[in-house]
Amino acid sequence: MYYILMDLEWNQPLSHRSAQYRRYGSQLMFDIIQIGAVKLNEQMQMVGSFNQYIQPGLYRKLHPRITRITGINQEDLHGALPFTEALERFVSWCGEDFALITWGCDDINVFQQNLDFYLKDDRTMPSVYDLQRLFGMRTAGNTKNRPGLQSAMKYFHILPSIDHPFHSAVDDAYYTAKVIQHMDNPEEVLQMPQTVRELAPAKTSANETSDDLRFTNLAQAIKSRPAREPNCPACGKRLKVPEGYVPLDKHTWRALADCPDHGLVLIDMVLETMRDGKNKVKRKAALSDQQNPAYVKTKHLQWANKVAQLPK
Ligand SMILES: [Zn+2]
Repeated sequence: MYYILMDLEWNQPLSHRSAQYRRYGSQLMFDIIQIGAVKLNEQMQMVGSFNQYIQPGLYRKLHPRITRITGINQEDLHGALPFTEALERFVSWCGEDFALITWGCDDINVFQQNLDFYLKDDRTMPSVYDLQRLFGMRTAGNTKNRPGLQSAMKYFHILPSIDHPFHSAVDDAYYTAKVIQHMDNPEEVLQMPQTVRELAPAKTSANETSDDLRFTNLAQAIKSRPAREPNCPACGKRLKVPEGYVPLDKHTWRALADCPDHGLVLIDMVLETMRDGKNKVKRKAALSDQQNPAYVKTKHLQWANKVAQLPK
């Protein structure tokens, strides 16, 4: 059996207000633009690698953020294969007897969504295993710990090389392979299967969500986990609240959060009085209309000040 370490890069819509996103966003949130993979044999020796750029079929124009992170340019995708053909190439490269492994659990959700959108058949992902979970368990004793690939490299004294820049799918797959090579009993990664999570766009609109919490007062609510770890309204990813909540008025407390994919998110905890006179706290999350880096930075500084001035 071969171990295949896989990494994907994907493009995001230029705007959640774009026509494509509004029409198809609930079916496809991201277009895969690169599949990178490295194949290891059972002795954990590298026996092959795979690198394929993919022409995005829906969100054709590369988001500047994606270019910044991945180094992939519009020209790199010029003449690249469409997803279905790239997939055929990848499937035949993988062969018959393999275990697919990723670092972290985001890739398979995006992969499955691209399969559903482009293939129009019921093809599902083969089992995919999460090396990040195994590493987190070995080093921190639990699988909730989600260390980055670079900290795993540091842990094993794996040095990055200029031949393998970070955040290109094939190079990240290469470093993931390096990490698994350094692990004792690496086959235990097969005990870390992943399940596909449906990528859910926001319910109320592309940019907003609203949930009822079980709290009847704001003081309790803002200390709760839903308040401290809200979800991005666009992708559902769990976010951190770096500063904390600040009262806007008697009924609303607001915090800031940042989604790595969607930017600044405003989280409001709102106290509402129901028709029966009972109170209920709602959590509302909305992407900020303003996303330029200087604005976001200033906003965070302002929030840190406000939180610091709150009475204890
Ligand atoms: Zn997001």
